[in-house]
Amino acid sequence: MPRRRPATTVEGATRAPDRRRLAAGKAESAECRRCPLWRHATQTVFGAGPADASIVLVGEQPGDQEDLAGEPFVGPAGQLLRKAMREARLDEGIAYRTNAVKHFKWEARGKRRIHERPTTSEVLACQIWLELELAAIAPRLVVALGATAVRSLLGPSARVLRDRGKILSSPTGVDVLVTVHPSSILRAPDEIARREAYDAFVADLRAARRRLASRIARVRPSGVSPKTTPAETG
Ligand code: SF4
Repeated sequence: MPRRRPATTVEGATRAPDRRRLAAGKAESAECRRCPLWRHATQTVFGAGPADASIVLVGEQPGDQEDLAGEPFVGPAGQLLRKAMREARLDEGIAYRTNAVKHFKWEARGKRRIHERPTTSEVLACQIWLELELAAIAPRLVVALGATAVRSLLGPSARVLRDRGKILSSPTGVDVLVTVHPSSILRAPDEIARREAYDAFVADLRAARRRLASRIARVRPSGVSPKTTPAETG
């Protein structure tokens, strides 16, 4: 049975997540033709996770495995993300996973489909779906994983390397924690660099957990002693 929670608005008031709007957005996005990326992808990969998620994790776009499965973060980067979340004690059960762009952009190299970064116009075209997801869920915190997510959520002036670990306010008023995409850790040149990049990523996710805990404590009515989750403790 999923935990239910009232979502928190920017002002600190609470409202129920809009499950119907989220489901309708998923159905509509399956037919989306707002940019050319649908032509060479298998399917739209909408976000996945509870509609009453406290935290939304936003990556760049689905990869080869996600394109085939129709679900975000099921490939190697997703596995690394889940491992880092466990290490940071960030409960997967309160997280909704999605991407800034919902179709897989790739180029053929031999028999392989190699990831290609989406253009600014493709990211802008797809913002309608990400904004719908965030409006329906109204999470307490969004984690932007990598440059494309950061650009989509915070605009062109935000920078991953300069701003990582910071929590910035998006133009729509959502709190966004900036960090790298887990695929960048997999691309590190050697084992030592990979370890360092992974540890820094876990530290960012721990910062996200602490932020969630403090926001939950702020909006909780006094005298109420709710159930805690691993993400809300310590
Ligand atoms: S990438 Fe986004 S905007 Fe482009 S067709 Fe797919 S769902 Fe639509």
